[in-house]
Amino acid sequence: MLDTLRSIIQDVAEAGSFQESLDILVHDVRAALGTEVCSVYLLNREKDRFLFVANEGLNTDAVGKLELGLNQGLIALVAERAEPINLDNATVHPRFYLVPEIGEEAFHAFLGVPLIHQREVLGVLVVQQRERRKFDESEEAFLITLSAQLAAGFAHAEATGDVQKLLHGDVGPALERQDAMFRGVGGAPGISLGTAVVVHPAASLEAVSERMIDDVTLELQILDRAVESVRGDIERISEQFAQSLPPEELALFDVYLHMLDDNALAGDIRQRVRKGFWAQSALKQVIREHVRLFEEMEDPYLRERGADVKDLGLRVLGYLQDIRTKKTHFPDDAILVGDDVTPGMLANIPADKLKGIVSVNGSANSHVAILAQALDIPAVMGAVDLPIFNIDNQRLIVDGFFGEVFCNPSPGKVEHYRSLREEEREFAEELEALRDVPGITLDGARIGLWVNIGLPGDASRSLDRGAEGVGLFRTEVPFMTKDRFPSEEEQRAIYREHMVAFEPKPVTMRTLDIGGDKSLSYFPINEDNPSLGWRGIRVTLDHPEIFMVQARAMLKANEGLKGDLRIMLPMISSLVEVEEAKRLVQRAYNEVREEGIAVKQPLIGVMIEVPAAVYQSRQLAKMVDFLAVGSNDLTQYMLAVDRNNPRVASLYQEYHPAVLSALRDVAKAAQAEKIYFGICGTLAGTPLGAVLLMAMGYHVLSMNATNLPKVKWVIRNIRRTDARRMLARVLRMGTAAEVQHFMHQQLVEAGLGRVVPSHH
Ligand code: PEP
Ligand code: MG
Repeated sequence: MLDTLRSIIQDVAEAGSFQESLDILVHDVRAALGTEVCSVYLLNREKDRFLFVANEGLNTDAVGKLELGLNQGLIALVAERAEPINLDNATVHPRFYLVPEIGEEAFHAFLGVPLIHQREVLGVLVVQQRERRKFDESEEAFLITLSAQLAAGFAHAEATGDVQKLLHGDVGPALERQDAMFRGVGGAPGISLGTAVVVHPAASLEAVSERMIDDVTLELQILDRAVESVRGDIERISEQFAQSLPPEELALFDVYLHMLDDNALAGDIRQRVRKGFWAQSALKQVIREHVRLFEEMEDPYLRERGADVKDLGLRVLGYLQDIRTKKTHFPDDAILVGDDVTPGMLANIPADKLKGIVSVNGSANSHVAILAQALDIPAVMGAVDLPIFNIDNQRLIVDGFFGEVFCNPSPGKVEHYRSLREEEREFAEELEALRDVPGITLDGARIGLWVNIGLPGDASRSLDRGAEGVGLFRTEVPFMTKDRFPSEEEQRAIYREHMVAFEPKPVTMRTLDIGGDKSLSYFPINEDNPSLGWRGIRVTLDHPEIFMVQARAMLKANEGLKGDLRIMLPMISSLVEVEEAKRLVQRAYNEVREEGIAVKQPLIGVMIEVPAAVYQSRQLAKMVDFLAVGSNDLTQYMLAVDRNNPRVASLYQEYHPAVLSALRDVAKAAQAEKIYFGICGTLAGTPLGAVLLMAMGYHVLSMNATNLPKVKWVIRNIRRTDARRMLARVLRMGTAAEVQHFMHQQLVEAGLGRVVPSHH
């Protein structure tokens, strides 16, 4: 059964159009179960009707024409109950509704299974048979499994407009419709209007998705150019080695060239492109098949040739992606769009042209979102249905507050969003006046408003906005932009530059925090469960040479400065790690002093990012000078929700009562031990979160420079006694939604509604 299931899913995925995929589905299911009839009905939510979209075994003339109301017949009943209905004689069921034109009265046995994606019924898959019999359990289970697997594809087809095309006749793909809206989550606040620039990651056959194209001629041209470029490369290499290699080795290059001939690989790929596949997936299919053939061969020499085929495939893919993506000219209002936008991709667009970011994968807490916030660039993450293949050069509106992207916006929509953006800009201008005033509440409570930095340009942006210190320097950024670990001197120079810029303000340097979703190209970590794996302090304690170089660089960078150097340890989950790290820092300090450099003892702090550290925060507080909560990771680990996974993004709730009570407990532990404590997760930079954290007694809120002015405005316009009253209410609440709703209302009532936008 598993094989049948796989092959149906593969056939459906490889179909040339959505209608074809439906036709293949009903054909394959009918054959697999040996039934006489198989049909698909899809729900048209605008009209509240089910449309008969695919069939084998009934009168197929009705396909695309027949519609059923929301209460009509067994189809509606399956959808209503959102569970399968299995009947030996459907015609006697009270909800049976006879549609004479399709001729189903002759079929008695009926099994209907709902197609459900993210709790919503999208349609119904039905099999029917003349014979009066109940479908058996295994048949029912088979259809349920199949429907569950296919539902995501149906949802995607709906989002991209393929379903609407079936339901309304050919109104053109979604992207040609005005104001087609795709939903993700807000990654960085703000609104931008601009032109989509689609980027792809480095060539990897596995990462190529199956996509269809309309313009076969263009796609063939792209393929030809790529193949010709590879051919040129091979000829060049062959010439280079003509003198030094023996002829039998040189002959290998000819073999490569032959493989690229039209009667070999290239011909097969062209054929698939003619069927409507874009060149990259055509290439992937062909390479996959050939590699498999070679790998099955007896002869070890021939078996090895599979690797050559793959290598050739990758070379072609590299050019295919280059031809599509190599941009020499960026529009002035570029909106970077990609399946997985990475921090590295941001660097490829001139900063003054980058106006927005849309990533199909990832969530608000992916590092690219955090960088976008720091750069003040609106971002939408996890827009899973966005058809990025067709979106290059389209006009887009990115709403980073609500996580929405509009393609091909109408003049009305553009006008609306322009005026919202204008309001935002005016407010930002007003906030500039607060630059040099302290973060102090109406009743005199002082709170440190610090910044999280790491990117070039962050320091001046932060000082411009009145930062009073650095609560988190993400040292991994300088590591990510190199092709090897940076040396002690390279690190010292970068750290020094920042410390001098902030002098005499305190600067908190976090030791290298790689692993999870932060990887270094030159130090790959492959794990099944990266968030629970070798991350942060675990890596650097296992590599004391990396830790020591970094600690020495930090100490030296602070030489002769008045500002405090604070060294902060990420991902601490046991007291032993703190002991070991402190010992290493002390050793680094002694070594630097021995070199004759008069550096000061740094302060040492622990990040509270793991539930274990919350429970041990009192003991941790005794061992160090300060605590800093990393609420991004703490939320991820408290709630067991991957901070990067769009499928569970709605469960990633910083206002979850469990997270808030953990934050309160850390505050109490630090207060009991009388040490300094702060927070540097995204929550600190949100107006609602800042009010609650201030009420809990956090000394420092560290955030992106972008959010600082708004947070300062809120802090300066509220009384701590009022905030404490709100906190007391919040701590008795049961859900994140309740907390957010309540706090939202409170801020609006206190006249602070401007910082909690609600433009829907
Ligand atoms: C955090 O986890 O909250 C944090 C500040 O660190 P990062 O986002 O860099 O993991
Ligand atoms: Mg973290």
